[in-house]
Amino acid sequence: MDARLTVTPAHLRALANRAEALTAEVRALCDSTSIGSPEHDALAAARHAADWLARGAEDLLRSAQDLTAVQPQPCGMPWGVCPEHGNTLSSRAGVSTCRVCRRDWAYDRLGQPCREPVTWKVIDRSGVETRMCDGHVLGARAAAAGSTFIRLDQATAIRHGEGSPTV
Ligand SMILES: [Zn+2]
Ligand SMILES: [Zn+2]
Repeated sequence: MDARLTVTPAHLRALANRAEALTAEVRALCDSTSIGSPEHDALAAARHAADWLARGAEDLLRSAQDLTAVQPQPCGMPWGVCPEHGNTLSSRAGVSTCRVCRRDWAYDRLGQPCREPVTWKVIDRSGVETRMCDGHVLGARAAAAGSTFIRLDQATAIRHGEGSPTV
């Protein structure tokens, strides 16, 4: 995962929630004054502010969606792979090692869901679509005859991936 990506859609959604809560709080405050009273009129600007806060919450949610669209989703397959060689890991005593390149990871990578960025869309013969990383697509190519493999947006893959796969 790219360490520079520190803003997540969850951050933006949390801010949107706060803006929504603030909107509700301001509106409740304004509604507590009776219509026609001097207080009610004096709060006109505050009611206007509540509308802006509500708009702000919507924009934050939209931004969260936009961010989701450009950030790579983690592959999420239930086991880890070598990003370059696929299903070549073996795990022992909490360390996973690739049998091909000997790269190792100081945790049980094999036993954990895959966190590599999604770079491929695989559609099997029955039309079921799965998104997966470079490493997992290697194994899928070997196992899933008749499936269609579609490389996702190259710009995204190059920006966030660890190099193109050699498949
Ligand atoms: Zn490897
Ligand atoms: Zn994967």
